[in-house]
Amino acid sequence: MKVATGKSILDGIAIGPLHFYHKVDTEIVMASKLTPAEELSRFATAQGKAQEQLGALYDKALEEVGEDNAAIFEIHQMMVEDDDYVEAIQSIIETQGATAEYAVSTTGDNFAATFAAMDDAYMKARAVDVKDISRRLVNILTGADEGNLLGDKPVILVADDLTPSETVQMDKSKLLGFVTRKGSTNSHTAILARTMNIPALIGVEIDEDWDGKPGIIDGYNHCVYVEPTADLATSMQKKHNEDLQQRALLQGLKGKENVTLDGRHVNLYANIGNVGDVGLVLQNDASGIGLFRSEFIYLNSQDYPTEDEQFAIYKQVVETMGGRKVIIRTLDIGADKQADYFNLDKEENPALGFRAIRICLTRKEIFKTQLRAILRASAYGKVSIMFPMIISVREVRDAKDVLAECRKELADKGVAMGEVEIGIMIETPAAVVMADELAQEVEFFSLGTNDLTQYTLAIDRQNPKLDAFYDPHHPAVLRMIRRTVEAGHRHNCWVGICGELGADPKLTETFLRMGVDELSVSPSSILPLRKIVRGLDLTKEPSNVDCPEF
Ligand code: PEP
Ligand code: MG
Repeated sequence: MKVATGKSILDGIAIGPLHFYHKVDTEIVMASKLTPAEELSRFATAQGKAQEQLGALYDKALEEVGEDNAAIFEIHQMMVEDDDYVEAIQSIIETQGATAEYAVSTTGDNFAATFAAMDDAYMKARAVDVKDISRRLVNILTGADEGNLLGDKPVILVADDLTPSETVQMDKSKLLGFVTRKGSTNSHTAILARTMNIPALIGVEIDEDWDGKPGIIDGYNHCVYVEPTADLATSMQKKHNEDLQQRALLQGLKGKENVTLDGRHVNLYANIGNVGDVGLVLQNDASGIGLFRSEFIYLNSQDYPTEDEQFAIYKQVVETMGGRKVIIRTLDIGADKQADYFNLDKEENPALGFRAIRICLTRKEIFKTQLRAILRASAYGKVSIMFPMIISVREVRDAKDVLAECRKELADKGVAMGEVEIGIMIETPAAVVMADELAQEVEFFSLGTNDLTQYTLAIDRQNPKLDAFYDPHHPAVLRMIRRTVEAGHRHNCWVGICGELGADPKLTETFLRMGVDELSVSPSSILPLRKIVRGLDLTKEPSNVDCPEF
């Protein structure tokens, strides 16, 4: 047995085979060394594999987000067999001596361009689907498919590093946990793992020799065991079963109110990164979505997502939430969240650089496309918009002006829209200092404590060497939060927390005593927090000894 230590980002245990992930280069070669008949056969095999993957995705979506939303994967299955599409691919292989992947990629691009040029909104939307199935087929043909990423059976993934988009795209039913050499506990990849309730260990000296061997991630003790002894495996399995039992007990809190013993209510909302997380939100009985990190739509896309593509996603989330509030944060790209097609310059200090609202107010067409999509989705449920990385009143007014411009454009065309609550994220010290003025511009504040901690303590949240110094309980951070709540309430502005600190059980009482109105946390933290809230009595002396004086 070998033991390697790292930093755990979730208290939990994962047991299963270790599987190495090597990033695959998906360069597409045009000229084939095989005969056309052989390429046709490769294509046919890829079609079969794509059908299998789509069937599995349908089943998963059916369970997590319901029949209507799962139907898209049935449509994709039909498209993979569509006569026109298949004939165009076969013709390129036969007449140009091309590889199957080249033929699929070229046909996908051609069909997508044709669909995109159509007037009918339904047909336009098919452009996204044809791109999607083509990418799936190309990935299968070049060996870069998700099946390869995770193996056929559930595994503990071991990788040098994982980007947020790779993490989002993974088939969660095959992912027991992951172990990476790089990464920091406050990175977006770590946040995603928490959202998905996946035990993960980062900063581990990994060894290629582990590939295929049995492993256990022990999130409680920050280590991974490779080829564990029989005794250890038995005791870890016991602990894992206890965890599952504890989770089952929490299920009894579903449907119960988030209210303290002395009658104080607090909203417990969930953070999500994509549509697939909505199933978890409902399973964990969150009263709404307090942070939809919309930038993951951009990170999952090869090009700027169109208004229709975004509208379809927001509408699906809003409809699935069935009248519960959905707070969509506008694009927060930049820093550790990069999409190539934005062509952002390399920066000396990306966290202090061209990101989030700064990009949106500079490249207004990108911003307007997103805002129109959100406004259109607001006709289908309860939508709020919040702007990230705000430092001044001027930015909020500019953003609201752009929003008003979009609303007018849509209204002139007779497009249906609902009321939309407007808020901002408080994640810079400047915003805290300006909170009284900012509160008069918006209806709510949401404290982004991940960045607020980074900027208050001058500690790069991406740098694993600084994890020991990154103290989210630092009195300076807690005072920032208290000050924001007080300023918000002075101006009738409700105040929530959507950074990771919101889920910290040691601070729940402190936050409630401060008057925080909402905590937005990973779906898996909703029921544990409900349990804490329901056990508190705020008329009694403060009991949280863990929280330092501030
Ligand atoms: C935050 O900064 O706390 C936050 C919620 O935003 P993100 O983690 O996406 O930067
Ligand atoms: Mg942030």
